[in-house]
Amino acid sequence: MKPLYFDTAATTAVAPEVLARMVELLGGEGAYANPSSAAHLPGQAAAAVVALARVEIAAELGCEADEVVFTSGATEANNLALRGVALAHAAQGRHLVTSVIEHKSVLACCAALQREGYEVTYLSPNSAGWVEPDAVARALRPDTLLVSLQYTNNETGVMQPIAEVADLAVQAGVLLHVDAAQAAGKFPIDLQKIPIDLLSLSAHKFHGPKGVGCLVVRNRRQLRLQPLMHGGGQEFGLRPGTLATHQIVGLSAALSLAAARRAADLAHVGELKRRFLQQLGECLPTQVHGELARSSPYIVNFSIAGIISDALINQLRSDLAIASSSACSSGAVEPSYVLRAMGIEGEPLYGAVRLSFSRDHSLAEVSAAVERIGAAVSRMKELEISEDK
Ligand code: PMP
Repeated sequence: MKPLYFDTAATTAVAPEVLARMVELLGGEGAYANPSSAAHLPGQAAAAVVALARVEIAAELGCEADEVVFTSGATEANNLALRGVALAHAAQGRHLVTSVIEHKSVLACCAALQREGYEVTYLSPNSAGWVEPDAVARALRPDTLLVSLQYTNNETGVMQPIAEVADLAVQAGVLLHVDAAQAAGKFPIDLQKIPIDLLSLSAHKFHGPKGVGCLVVRNRRQLRLQPLMHGGGQEFGLRPGTLATHQIVGLSAALSLAAARRAADLAHVGELKRRFLQQLGECLPTQVHGELARSSPYIVNFSIAGIISDALINQLRSDLAIASSSACSSGAVEPSYVLRAMGIEGEPLYGAVRLSFSRDHSLAEVSAAVERIGAAVSRMKELEISEDK
C-alpha cells in the first residue's frame, strides 16, 4: 500500500494537462531550439513560446510581461530580490526588514547580507502566527531599503497582512518583496491592486514542475537589481542562462490551470480541511497552531496531546506522508522556529505536524488519513504501556 500523500506544501504532482504541454516541447518535433537564437526560425518559434508564457503569467498576476523574470524557483527568486536590491541600492541605505517566520531562503540570504555589513530587523509574529503591520511600521528607518514578508507561512498556513504592509511601504517609500511560494496559483494575486514591488513564486507548489519559478519585478526599468550571476544577458540581464522552454511553459500552464480552477479548488480544500479537523477532533485531543480564520485552507498544523511529532511520523511511515515542523540539524532535532516564535513551547511544539491538501484529494482520503493517525496513536499508546510494565 502506498502512503497517502498529504504533503503538498512541500511539493505537488505535475497536473496531467501541464505535463502534456511540457512533453510536447521536449522532443524533436517540439519548439526545442534556444529561445535566444533569434537568427533562425526554430529559435524564433521557441522565443514565441516563451513570450506567450510570459504574457499568460503576467495576465494572471496583473503585471507586465517584461516584469516576469524566470528563475529556478522561489529560493532563487527570493535571493535575487533581497541581494539584488541590497547590492544595487547600498549607497542609499543598508537596512532590511523581514520576519523571523520567513522561509530559510529569505532568512539565510538576510544572514549572508548581515555578514556583508547590512542590518536586518527581524519581526516576530503574534501568537496567532502573523506579523502585525504596526510592527512593520515601527521597524522602518530612513535607511530602510526593503521589507520582505511572506504571503502565506509554509508551516502554519497563516496569511500575512500583505495589503496593509504594502500600503505602509508605499507611504514610507521602501520596496516590498513578497514570497508568495505558498500562495501563488492558490489565491488571486492582483499586482494592479496591491502595490508589491517584487514577488517570488515556484511552479511545483501548484502542480507545475520543480526547478522553475519567477521573480516579478514591478517597474523593472526604475527598480535596480544586481543579478546573482553573470552570463549571456538573458532575462533582461537579471538571470543569465539558456531559457528552459518546457519548464517555463509548465509554470505558465500550471498557473493558468490553477486560476481557472481556483474557486472550485478553494472550496474543495476548504471542505477537506474542515472535515479533517472535525473528524480528528472527534477522536483525539488536538490543538491547532495558527489562527484558523486567517490560515490557508491548503495547510493545517496541529499537535495531539502526549504525542511527539517525529514518533508519530515514523509510526505512520507506510500509511501517510506528512511533515513535521522540526528540522534535523547536525543530528539533533530542532523544533520549528516558526511555532516557537509564536510562543508555542513544550508538548505542542514538539508534537506539531503539518498536513497539506490539494485539489486531487478526496473526502474519503481525508477520512482515511484521520483513521490512520488514530490507529498510529493507539499503537504508540500501547507501546508506551507495554514499555512501562
Ligand atoms: N518560500 C516558501 C514559503 C516555501 O514554502 C518554499 C518551498 N518550501 C520556498 C520559498 C522555496 O521554494 P523552492 O524550493 O521551490 O525554491
